[in-house]
Amino acid sequence: MSDDVLNKEMLDYQLMKAEEYENTLDILHPEDVIKQEKAFLFRSSKLALVVGHSARSPGAKGCPPISRHEYHWNQFLAKIIKDIATAKGINCEIFYRDGIGILGAYQEVNDWKADACVELHFNAYNGQVVGSEVLYGSSNIFSKKLAEDFQEMLVRVYSREGVANRGIKHCKAGVDRGGENVNQLVNIPSCLIEPYFGDAQSDAKKAKKYINVLADSIIAVYLNFIKKA
Ligand SMILES: [Zn+2]
Repeated sequence: MSDDVLNKEMLDYQLMKAEEYENTLDILHPEDVIKQEKAFLFRSSKLALVVGHSARSPGAKGCPPISRHEYHWNQFLAKIIKDIATAKGINCEIFYRDGIGILGAYQEVNDWKADACVELHFNAYNGQVVGSEVLYGSSNIFSKKLAEDFQEMLVRVYSREGVANRGIKHCKAGVDRGGENVNQLVNIPSCLIEPYFGDAQSDAKKAKKYINVLADSIIAVYLNFIKKA
């Protein structure tokens, strides 16, 4: 091995070690990030709702009594949530992916400087599987906690037991379903909820029966979350 090659390898090794060291320092000292996030979270109270899918591509179709695609059902749900939030003095806005896509919608959420963001969906599989789950990413360190809080609420609202409590799922952008959605916001905690399987009759019935409970509970989780954050 020539001296030049050896020197380059040593330099690369040192740089890698330096980066590892810096990364370790970051991990060991998260207090700066937390302070920044805390200040941001307390500045105002704004809840952003992203309606999953679009009118052009409305997502999964729910069976009766949902009888609608995700996009239309969750547009309806989002309006209920917004009405409740407004009555409680919480700033709540609905964001759509229509015409601007996932990145465009999240850019708007970012520009609006929301305190937390939740994207609304429902699952569909084979008409038999039921359950609740929440997807989250790594772009904001509080997103996991937000996802946990939402999942805990969904388990309670829909009385999930065993495998029907599908838990929270960490998603990577470009790898996992929903990964693109839940990794867009750096300064804003966000997650994506799948409260039920809209194509399963028992879950569709629960979706309709508890729609106001879900809307109320989303607000309650949000308020509790920003209080603690
Ligand atoms: Zn969906």
